[in-house]
Amino acid sequence: MAAILAVHGGAGTMRRETVAPDMQAAFHAGLRAALLAGHAVLAKGGGALDAVTQAVMALEDDPLFNAGHGAVYTSAGRHELDAAVMDGATGDAGAVAGIAGPRHPILAARAVLGSEHVLLAGQSALDFCVAHGIEMVAAAHYHTERRWAALQAELARRAAQAADTRDDADRHGTVGAVACDARGHLAAATSTGGMTGKAPGRIGDCPIFGAGTWADRACAISATGHGEWFIRKAAAHEISARMRHLGESVEQAAASVVTELGRLGGSGGLIAVDAEGHVTLPFNSSGMYRGTIAADGLPRTAIWHESLG
Ligand code: ASP
Repeated sequence: MAAILAVHGGAGTMRRETVAPDMQAAFHAGLRAALLAGHAVLAKGGGALDAVTQAVMALEDDPLFNAGHGAVYTSAGRHELDAAVMDGATGDAGAVAGIAGPRHPILAARAVLGSEHVLLAGQSALDFCVAHGIEMVAAAHYHTERRWAALQAELARRAAQAADTRDDADRHGTVGAVACDARGHLAAATSTGGMTGKAPGRIGDCPIFGAGTWADRACAISATGHGEWFIRKAAAHEISARMRHLGESVEQAAASVVTELGRLGGSGGLIAVDAEGHVTLPFNSSGMYRGTIAADGLPRTAIWHESLG
């Protein structure tokens, strides 16, 4: 079968008029680079797990997206990163939560996937990274002026008890990838800095399997948005459950979960693929940085409700 891969770079309220044309072009370019990195693996006959890992690594290195270099700050002015990866063919899963140290948190998650653990946090996660030869960086590696300014603005807003009028692109974001390889195996990977000004120790949906990241034989899901809602609704696993128990298509199941999250106040979206390579990219917010790449090797990307181009 023809392999396919999708990526996202965060969802939320994103007013077109507040994103300058050169920034829009840079977002599209970042998504395309990630799609091509993942596709390079699939085109050589590589597996879905390697493809989603490569795609997410590209987004973690791009300072525009909230993961790795360019991650948002906690209220204490630090970085606490979450990342997760899951292999739908085997059910193996690995995640790290609330850590700063790996240049590529997704590679730390991938190392956890290959171990006896599923989710590691805190100092033991960092010790594990070092023991597994994961490239480590100083905290300054994650820094961008844009994210630091966003934290200062958020802290000032809280001090003034003012209404929150920011675009979500300044507030949070996540990167993720899902893929179906030539053997019909599925995988999902997600990586994030979380929410700007989040409480130290707060863990989002990204490293919680079944919430922000999931892969099995039915589908692979990577989510982005207000993580607490995705955790409360076990959003990613719910899509698989609807497909397996109700016989819904991936499009129907994903749309129904994203609509329900929106009804509850959980703004965001997700990318999903099934074992026949059907991809769907629903979101209940004004935009979601997203894209797909199929066998033709042409990356197709979009930000708002326009179709992929
Ligand atoms: N889901 C992420 C979190 O709650 C944030 C986002 O995707 O925008 O940490």
